[in-house]
Amino acid sequence: MRHPPSDGDNAMRAIASPPIDPNERDMVLFVPPMEPFACQLAAAVFRSTGFDARVIEENAQTLAIGLQHTGGGECVPCPSTTGALIHAMQASGCPPEKVVFFMPTACGPCRFGQYARLDSLIFERLGWGAIRILSPSAENAYGGLRAGVRLRLWHALLIADILRKMSMRIRPYELEAGETDRVIDKWFEKFQQAFAGKPKPPISRMLAAAVAEVAAIPTSQTSKPLVGVVGEIYVRCDPFLNNDLCRRIEALGGEAALAPISEWVLYTNYHRGMVLACEKMGPRVAVRRLLNYLERHLLFGHWEHHYYRIADPVLHDRREPSIAEVIAEGSKHVPWQFAGESILTLGRAALFVKRDGAQAVVNASPMFCMPGTITTSIFPKLERELNVPILCNFYDGSGDGNQSLVPVMHYLCHSSAASKVATA
Ligand code: SF4
Repeated sequence: MRHPPSDGDNAMRAIASPPIDPNERDMVLFVPPMEPFACQLAAAVFRSTGFDARVIEENAQTLAIGLQHTGGGECVPCPSTTGALIHAMQASGCPPEKVVFFMPTACGPCRFGQYARLDSLIFERLGWGAIRILSPSAENAYGGLRAGVRLRLWHALLIADILRKMSMRIRPYELEAGETDRVIDKWFEKFQQAFAGKPKPPISRMLAAAVAEVAAIPTSQTSKPLVGVVGEIYVRCDPFLNNDLCRRIEALGGEAALAPISEWVLYTNYHRGMVLACEKMGPRVAVRRLLNYLERHLLFGHWEHHYYRIADPVLHDRREPSIAEVIAEGSKHVPWQFAGESILTLGRAALFVKRDGAQAVVNASPMFCMPGTITTSIFPKLERELNVPILCNFYDGSGDGNQSLVPVMHYLCHSSAASKVATA
Protein backbone atom coordinates (compact mmCIF):
# COMPACT_ATOMS: atom_id res chain seq x y z
CA MET A 1 0.00 0.00 0.00
CA ARG A 2 1.28 3.45 -0.86
CA HIS A 3 1.55 6.18 1.71
CA PRO A 4 2.66 9.81 1.60
CA PRO A 5 5.99 11.09 2.90
CA SER A 6 6.61 10.19 6.52
CA ASP A 7 8.27 13.36 7.77
CA GLY A 8 6.04 15.43 9.95
CA ASP A 9 7.65 18.84 9.40
CA ASN A 10 6.75 21.57 6.95
CA ALA A 11 8.40 19.75 4.08
CA MET A 12 5.20 19.80 2.07
CA ARG A 13 3.71 23.25 2.31
CA ALA A 14 0.07 23.75 1.41
CA ILE A 15 -1.43 27.11 0.48
CA ALA A 16 -4.94 27.90 1.72
CA SER A 17 -5.73 24.23 2.03
CA PRO A 18 -5.78 21.69 4.87
CA PRO A 19 -2.32 20.46 5.88
CA ILE A 20 -1.03 17.16 4.51
CA ASP A 21 -1.05 14.59 7.27
CA PRO A 22 2.12 12.54 6.87
CA ASN A 23 0.40 9.41 8.15
CA GLU A 24 -2.40 9.40 5.63
CA ARG A 25 -2.41 6.58 3.14
CA ASP A 26 -3.61 6.16 -0.46
CA MET A 27 -3.09 9.80 -1.31
CA VAL A 28 -3.39 10.67 -5.01
CA LEU A 29 -1.05 13.42 -6.20
CA PHE A 30 -2.12 15.10 -9.43
CA VAL A 31 0.78 16.71 -11.34
CA PRO A 32 0.02 19.31 -14.07
CA PRO A 33 1.18 18.31 -17.57
CA MET A 34 3.52 21.20 -18.28
CA GLU A 35 6.15 19.28 -20.21
CA PRO A 36 6.02 15.67 -21.36
CA PHE A 37 9.37 14.46 -19.96
CA ALA A 38 9.78 16.45 -16.76
CA CYS A 39 6.27 16.00 -15.38
CA GLN A 40 6.27 12.24 -15.83
CA LEU A 41 9.69 11.89 -14.21
CA ALA A 42 8.65 14.20 -11.35
CA ALA A 43 5.53 12.07 -10.85
CA ALA A 44 7.75 8.99 -10.75
CA VAL A 45 9.82 10.61 -7.97
CA PHE A 46 6.64 11.34 -6.01
CA ARG A 47 5.54 7.72 -6.48
CA SER A 48 8.80 6.61 -4.89
CA THR A 49 7.86 8.64 -1.79
CA GLY A 50 4.50 6.90 -1.41
CA PHE A 51 2.09 9.08 -3.36
CA ASP A 52 -0.05 7.62 -6.11
CA ALA A 53 1.24 10.38 -8.41
CA ARG A 54 -0.40 10.87 -11.80
CA VAL A 55 0.22 13.44 -14.54
CA ILE A 56 -3.16 14.84 -15.48
CA GLU A 57 -4.38 15.09 -19.04
CA GLU A 58 -4.59 18.39 -20.87
CA ASN A 59 -6.54 18.93 -24.10
CA ALA A 60 -9.07 21.26 -25.70
CA GLN A 61 -11.83 19.84 -23.52
CA THR A 62 -9.97 20.34 -20.23
CA LEU A 63 -8.97 23.87 -21.28
CA ALA A 64 -12.65 24.63 -21.98
CA ILE A 65 -13.52 23.36 -18.48
CA GLY A 66 -10.82 25.59 -16.99
CA LEU A 67 -12.09 28.62 -18.87
CA GLN A 68 -15.59 28.01 -17.46
CA HIS A 69 -14.22 28.20 -13.92
CA THR A 70 -11.86 31.16 -14.28
CA GLY A 71 -12.46 34.82 -15.10
CA GLY A 72 -11.17 34.86 -18.68
CA GLY A 73 -8.35 37.35 -18.09
CA GLU A 74 -5.89 34.87 -16.57
CA CYS A 75 -2.85 33.77 -18.54
CA VAL A 76 -3.63 30.45 -20.22
CA PRO A 77 -1.58 28.08 -18.00
CA CYS A 78 -4.03 28.96 -15.20
CA PRO A 79 -7.27 27.75 -16.83
CA SER A 80 -5.38 24.92 -18.48
CA THR A 81 -4.03 23.45 -15.23
CA THR A 82 -7.26 24.15 -13.35
CA GLY A 83 -9.41 22.55 -16.04
CA ALA A 84 -7.12 19.53 -16.24
CA LEU A 85 -7.43 19.01 -12.50
CA ILE A 86 -11.22 19.43 -12.49
CA HIS A 87 -11.49 16.92 -15.33
CA ALA A 88 -9.18 14.49 -13.52
CA MET A 89 -11.30 14.78 -10.39
CA GLN A 90 -14.50 14.11 -12.33
CA ALA A 91 -13.03 11.25 -14.37
CA SER A 92 -11.23 9.50 -11.51
CA GLY A 93 -13.93 9.89 -8.86
CA CYS A 94 -11.18 10.35 -6.25
CA PRO A 95 -12.53 11.64 -2.91
CA PRO A 96 -11.24 15.24 -2.44
CA GLU A 97 -9.79 14.43 0.99
CA LYS A 98 -7.48 11.90 -0.69
CA VAL A 99 -6.25 14.32 -3.37
CA VAL A 100 -3.18 16.54 -3.41
CA PHE A 101 -2.63 18.94 -6.31
CA PHE A 102 0.98 19.83 -7.12
CA MET A 103 1.11 23.51 -7.98
CA PRO A 104 4.43 25.27 -7.36
CA THR A 105 4.27 29.00 -6.77
CA ALA A 106 6.45 32.09 -7.11
CA CYS A 107 6.75 35.45 -5.46
CA GLY A 108 6.55 38.86 -7.10
CA PRO A 109 4.04 40.54 -9.36
CA CYS A 110 3.64 37.60 -11.73
CA ARG A 111 0.24 35.95 -11.60
CA PHE A 112 1.81 32.52 -11.16
CA GLY A 113 1.96 33.37 -7.46
CA GLN A 114 -1.85 33.44 -7.45
CA TYR A 115 -2.61 30.13 -9.20
CA ALA A 116 -2.61 28.00 -6.06
CA ARG A 117 -4.75 30.52 -4.19
CA LEU A 118 -7.24 30.79 -7.04
CA ASP A 119 -7.35 27.00 -7.36
CA SER A 120 -8.16 26.62 -3.68
CA LEU A 121 -11.07 29.08 -4.08
CA ILE A 122 -12.38 27.21 -7.12
CA PHE A 123 -12.14 23.85 -5.32
CA GLU A 124 -13.99 25.38 -2.38
CA ARG A 125 -16.79 26.51 -4.71
CA LEU A 126 -17.02 23.04 -6.23
CA GLY A 127 -17.32 21.45 -2.80
CA TRP A 128 -13.78 20.07 -3.01
CA GLY A 129 -12.33 22.22 -0.24
CA ALA A 130 -10.60 19.14 1.18
CA ILE A 131 -8.16 18.99 -1.76
CA ARG A 132 -4.66 19.77 -0.52
CA ILE A 133 -2.38 21.91 -2.66
CA LEU A 134 1.30 21.05 -2.52
CA SER A 135 2.88 24.36 -3.33
CA PRO A 136 6.65 24.71 -2.96
CA SER A 137 7.83 28.24 -3.65
CA ALA A 138 10.39 29.85 -5.96
CA GLU A 139 11.07 32.30 -3.14
CA ASN A 140 13.51 29.84 -1.60
CA ALA A 141 14.42 27.89 -4.78
CA TYR A 142 11.72 25.33 -3.86
CA GLY A 143 13.42 24.65 -0.57
CA GLY A 144 10.06 23.78 1.06
CA LEU A 145 10.37 20.25 -0.24
CA ARG A 146 12.04 17.53 1.81
CA ALA A 147 15.76 17.47 1.02
CA GLY A 148 15.73 13.90 -0.38
CA VAL A 149 12.68 14.52 -2.56
CA ARG A 150 14.06 17.79 -3.78
CA LEU A 151 17.35 16.22 -4.77
CA ARG A 152 15.61 13.42 -6.66
CA LEU A 153 13.35 15.94 -8.39
CA TRP A 154 16.44 17.83 -9.46
CA HIS A 155 17.96 14.66 -10.92
CA ALA A 156 14.66 13.93 -12.69
CA LEU A 157 14.50 17.43 -14.10
CA LEU A 158 18.04 17.25 -15.46
CA ILE A 159 17.42 13.86 -17.06
CA ALA A 160 14.18 15.18 -18.58
CA ASP A 161 16.00 18.21 -20.01
CA ILE A 162 18.76 16.01 -21.43
CA LEU A 163 16.36 13.49 -23.01
CA ARG A 164 14.42 16.32 -24.64
CA LYS A 165 17.57 18.08 -25.81
CA MET A 166 18.97 14.86 -27.29
CA SER A 167 15.74 14.19 -29.17
CA MET A 168 15.75 17.72 -30.59
CA ARG A 169 19.44 17.55 -31.49
CA ILE A 170 19.16 14.29 -33.46
CA ARG A 171 15.58 14.06 -34.79
CA PRO A 172 15.90 16.75 -37.51
CA TYR A 173 18.81 14.83 -39.04
CA GLU A 174 17.72 11.18 -38.60
CA LEU A 175 17.84 9.05 -41.74
CA GLU A 176 14.97 6.82 -40.68
CA ALA A 177 11.90 8.80 -39.69
CA GLY A 178 10.76 8.01 -36.14
CA GLU A 179 14.01 6.36 -35.02
CA THR A 180 14.96 9.09 -32.53
CA ASP A 181 11.52 9.11 -30.91
CA ARG A 182 11.58 5.33 -30.67
CA VAL A 183 14.95 5.29 -28.86
CA ILE A 184 14.13 8.25 -26.61
CA ASP A 185 10.71 6.82 -25.68
CA LYS A 186 12.31 3.52 -24.73
CA TRP A 187 14.77 5.22 -22.38
CA PHE A 188 12.12 7.59 -21.06
CA GLU A 189 10.10 4.56 -19.97
CA LYS A 190 13.17 3.09 -18.27
CA PHE A 191 13.92 6.34 -16.44
CA GLN A 192 10.32 6.54 -15.20
CA GLN A 193 10.67 3.09 -13.69
CA ALA A 194 14.04 4.01 -12.25
CA PHE A 195 12.84 7.18 -10.54
CA ALA A 196 9.74 5.46 -9.17
CA GLY A 197 11.66 2.46 -7.87
CA LYS A 198 13.35 1.57 -4.64
CA PRO A 199 16.27 1.13 -4.38
CA LYS A 200 17.35 3.59 -7.04
CA PRO A 201 19.12 2.12 -10.06
CA PRO A 202 22.31 3.93 -11.14
CA ILE A 203 20.95 6.87 -13.14
CA SER A 204 24.38 7.88 -14.45
CA ARG A 205 25.00 4.46 -15.94
CA MET A 206 21.55 4.42 -17.50
CA LEU A 207 22.12 7.86 -18.99
CA ALA A 208 25.46 6.80 -20.46
CA ALA A 209 23.76 3.83 -22.15
CA ALA A 210 20.94 6.07 -23.45
CA VAL A 211 23.43 8.60 -24.80
CA ALA A 212 25.41 5.86 -26.57
CA GLU A 213 22.25 4.56 -28.24
CA VAL A 214 21.10 8.03 -29.32
CA ALA A 215 24.58 8.87 -30.62
CA ALA A 216 24.47 5.71 -32.77
CA ILE A 217 21.30 6.78 -34.63
CA PRO A 218 22.28 7.25 -38.31
CA THR A 219 21.98 10.91 -39.30
CA SER A 220 22.62 13.01 -42.37
CA GLN A 221 25.55 15.40 -42.43
CA THR A 222 23.41 18.39 -43.45
CA SER A 223 23.01 21.44 -41.26
CA LYS A 224 19.69 23.14 -40.66
CA PRO A 225 18.86 26.61 -39.34
CA LEU A 226 18.92 26.58 -35.55
CA VAL A 227 15.97 28.32 -33.87
CA GLY A 228 16.19 29.17 -30.17
CA VAL A 229 12.95 28.95 -28.18
CA VAL A 230 12.65 31.11 -25.07
CA GLY A 231 9.81 32.66 -23.10
CA GLU A 232 7.34 31.80 -20.38
CA ILE A 233 8.25 28.42 -18.97
CA TYR A 234 4.85 26.71 -19.10
CA VAL A 235 3.89 27.68 -22.62
CA ARG A 236 7.31 27.31 -24.20
CA CYS A 237 7.54 23.74 -22.82
CA ASP A 238 3.95 22.60 -23.29
CA PRO A 239 3.29 21.16 -26.77
CA PHE A 240 -0.46 21.36 -26.24
CA LEU A 241 -0.53 25.08 -25.47
CA ASN A 242 2.18 26.10 -27.95
CA ASN A 243 0.76 24.06 -30.84
CA ASP A 244 3.81 21.80 -30.85
CA LEU A 245 6.14 24.71 -31.51
CA CYS A 246 9.43 22.79 -31.56
CA ARG A 247 8.17 20.06 -33.87
CA ARG A 248 6.68 22.71 -36.11
CA ILE A 249 10.13 24.29 -36.43
CA GLU A 250 11.46 20.87 -37.37
CA ALA A 251 8.66 20.24 -39.85
CA LEU A 252 9.49 23.57 -41.52
CA GLY A 253 13.12 22.51 -42.01
CA GLY A 254 14.85 23.79 -38.88
CA GLU A 255 16.38 22.50 -35.66
CA ALA A 256 14.79 23.81 -32.47
CA ALA A 257 16.68 24.43 -29.23
CA LEU A 258 14.47 24.98 -26.20
CA ALA A 259 15.59 26.77 -23.03
CA PRO A 260 15.43 24.00 -20.39
CA ILE A 261 13.18 23.78 -17.34
CA SER A 262 16.19 23.51 -15.02
CA GLU A 263 16.99 27.13 -15.97
CA TRP A 264 14.22 28.37 -13.68
CA VAL A 265 15.44 26.39 -10.65
CA LEU A 266 19.02 27.59 -11.19
CA TYR A 267 17.75 31.12 -11.57
CA THR A 268 15.75 31.12 -8.32
CA ASN A 269 18.81 29.92 -6.43
CA TYR A 270 21.11 32.41 -8.15
CA HIS A 271 18.73 35.32 -7.69
CA ARG A 272 18.39 34.53 -4.00
CA GLY A 273 22.18 34.62 -3.75
CA MET A 274 22.23 38.06 -5.36
CA VAL A 275 19.60 39.34 -2.95
CA LEU A 276 21.50 37.90 0.03
CA ALA A 277 24.68 39.57 -1.20
CA CYS A 278 22.91 42.93 -0.83
CA GLU A 279 21.72 42.27 2.70
CA LYS A 280 23.62 43.64 5.70
CA MET A 281 26.07 41.03 6.95
CA GLY A 282 25.21 39.32 10.23
CA PRO A 283 25.23 35.75 11.56
CA ARG A 284 21.88 34.83 9.97
CA VAL A 285 22.74 36.33 6.61
CA ALA A 286 26.14 34.61 6.72
CA VAL A 287 24.49 31.23 7.27
CA ARG A 288 21.97 31.86 4.49
CA ARG A 289 24.71 32.92 2.09
CA LEU A 290 26.70 29.80 2.91
CA LEU A 291 23.68 27.54 2.41
CA ASN A 292 22.84 29.25 -0.85
CA TYR A 293 26.41 28.82 -2.06
CA LEU A 294 26.56 25.16 -1.06
CA GLU A 295 23.20 24.49 -2.64
CA ARG A 296 24.30 26.10 -5.90
CA HIS A 297 27.54 24.22 -6.16
CA LEU A 298 26.92 20.91 -4.41
CA LEU A 299 23.28 20.31 -5.21
CA PHE A 300 22.47 22.10 -8.45
CA GLY A 301 25.77 22.77 -10.20
CA HIS A 302 27.45 19.50 -9.36
CA TRP A 303 24.72 17.28 -10.78
CA GLU A 304 24.06 19.50 -13.75
CA HIS A 305 27.69 19.30 -14.85
CA HIS A 306 27.85 15.60 -14.03
CA TYR A 307 24.91 14.63 -16.28
CA TYR A 308 25.80 17.02 -19.08
CA ARG A 309 29.33 15.59 -19.18
CA ILE A 310 27.80 12.15 -19.70
CA ALA A 311 25.58 13.54 -22.47
CA ASP A 312 28.52 15.19 -24.24
CA PRO A 313 28.70 12.70 -27.15
CA VAL A 314 25.31 14.06 -28.30
CA LEU A 315 25.05 17.48 -26.66
CA HIS A 316 28.63 18.83 -26.72
CA ASP A 317 27.49 21.73 -28.91
CA ARG A 318 24.13 22.17 -27.19
CA ARG A 319 25.28 22.63 -23.59
CA GLU A 320 23.52 25.36 -21.64
CA PRO A 321 25.34 28.57 -20.68
CA SER A 322 25.73 29.18 -16.95
CA ILE A 323 22.87 31.02 -15.31
CA ALA A 324 25.33 33.81 -14.46
CA GLU A 325 25.98 34.33 -18.19
CA VAL A 326 22.24 34.40 -18.93
CA ILE A 327 21.63 36.99 -16.23
CA ALA A 328 24.62 39.07 -17.33
CA GLU A 329 23.18 39.20 -20.87
CA GLY A 330 19.62 39.81 -19.70
CA SER A 331 20.63 42.57 -17.31
CA LYS A 332 21.75 44.66 -20.29
CA HIS A 333 18.03 45.12 -20.90
CA VAL A 334 16.29 44.81 -17.50
CA PRO A 335 17.83 45.20 -14.04
CA TRP A 336 18.54 41.93 -12.22
CA GLN A 337 16.48 43.20 -9.27
CA PHE A 338 13.41 42.87 -11.47
CA ALA A 339 12.82 39.23 -10.59
CA GLY A 340 11.06 36.86 -12.96
CA GLU A 341 11.25 35.44 -16.42
CA SER A 342 11.96 38.61 -18.42
CA ILE A 343 15.67 38.63 -17.70
CA LEU A 344 16.00 34.93 -18.55
CA THR A 345 14.06 35.27 -21.79
CA LEU A 346 16.14 38.22 -22.99
CA GLY A 347 19.47 36.82 -21.79
CA ARG A 348 18.97 33.33 -23.22
CA ALA A 349 17.70 34.73 -26.52
CA ALA A 350 20.87 36.81 -26.90
CA LEU A 351 23.05 33.81 -26.05
CA PHE A 352 21.20 31.54 -28.45
CA VAL A 353 22.32 33.89 -31.21
CA LYS A 354 25.76 35.02 -30.02
CA ARG A 355 26.94 31.76 -28.46
CA ASP A 356 25.00 28.94 -30.11
CA GLY A 357 24.67 30.38 -33.61
CA ALA A 358 20.87 30.44 -33.73
CA GLN A 359 19.52 32.06 -36.88
CA ALA A 360 16.17 32.98 -35.33
CA VAL A 361 14.51 33.10 -31.93
CA VAL A 362 10.92 32.45 -30.89
CA ASN A 363 9.69 34.12 -27.72
CA ALA A 364 6.70 31.98 -26.65
CA SER A 365 4.29 33.52 -24.13
CA PRO A 366 0.74 33.04 -23.02
CA MET A 367 -1.68 35.79 -24.01
CA PHE A 368 -1.74 38.45 -21.24
CA CYS A 369 1.59 37.22 -19.79
CA MET A 370 3.28 40.03 -17.88
CA PRO A 371 6.93 39.04 -18.52
CA GLY A 372 5.95 38.12 -22.09
CA THR A 373 4.54 41.59 -22.69
CA ILE A 374 7.66 43.22 -21.27
CA THR A 375 10.05 41.13 -23.35
CA THR A 376 7.98 41.66 -26.47
CA SER A 377 8.43 45.41 -26.05
CA ILE A 378 12.22 45.03 -25.72
CA PHE A 379 12.85 42.41 -28.42
CA PRO A 380 12.64 44.79 -31.44
CA LYS A 381 15.75 46.56 -30.11
CA LEU A 382 17.51 43.24 -29.50
CA GLU A 383 16.48 42.04 -32.94
CA ARG A 384 18.27 44.99 -34.52
CA GLU A 385 21.36 44.38 -32.41
CA LEU A 386 21.50 40.64 -33.08
CA ASN A 387 20.44 40.92 -36.71
CA VAL A 388 18.27 37.79 -36.69
CA PRO A 389 14.47 37.49 -36.78
CA ILE A 390 12.83 37.28 -33.34
CA LEU A 391 9.21 36.15 -33.33
CA CYS A 392 7.11 37.01 -30.30
CA ASN A 393 4.27 34.50 -30.34
CA PHE A 394 1.39 34.68 -27.89
CA TYR A 395 -0.74 31.61 -27.25
CA ASP A 396 -4.19 31.28 -25.73
CA GLY A 397 -5.03 27.69 -26.62
CA SER A 398 -6.95 28.61 -29.79
CA GLY A 399 -5.95 28.83 -33.43
CA ASP A 400 -2.50 28.25 -34.89
CA GLY A 401 -0.08 30.45 -32.97
CA ASN A 402 2.84 29.26 -35.11
CA GLN A 403 1.72 30.44 -38.53
CA SER A 404 4.23 33.30 -38.29
CA LEU A 405 7.03 30.73 -38.51
CA VAL A 406 6.21 29.74 -42.07
CA PRO A 407 7.72 32.71 -43.96
CA VAL A 408 10.67 33.01 -41.58
CA MET A 409 11.60 29.34 -41.85
CA HIS A 410 11.13 29.44 -45.61
CA TYR A 411 13.54 32.38 -45.79
CA LEU A 412 16.11 30.75 -43.47
CA CYS A 413 16.04 27.40 -45.26
CA HIS A 414 16.17 29.05 -48.67
CA SER A 415 19.06 31.36 -47.77
CA SER A 416 21.09 28.61 -46.11
CA ALA A 417 20.59 26.37 -49.20
CA ALA A 418 21.60 29.28 -51.45
CA SER A 419 24.75 30.00 -49.42
CA LYS A 420 25.75 26.31 -49.66
CA VAL A 421 25.40 26.43 -53.44
CA ALA A 422 27.45 29.64 -53.56
CA THR A 423 30.30 28.12 -51.52
CA ALA A 424 30.26 24.76 -53.40
S1 SF4 B 1 4.85 34.30 -16.32
FE1 SF4 B 1 3.14 35.00 -17.54
S2 SF4 B 1 1.92 33.19 -17.92
FE2 SF4 B 1 3.27 32.70 -16.25
S3 SF4 B 1 2.05 33.22 -14.46
FE3 SF4 B 1 3.27 35.03 -14.93
S4 SF4 B 1 1.92 36.29 -16.16
FE4 SF4 B 1 1.09 34.22 -16.15
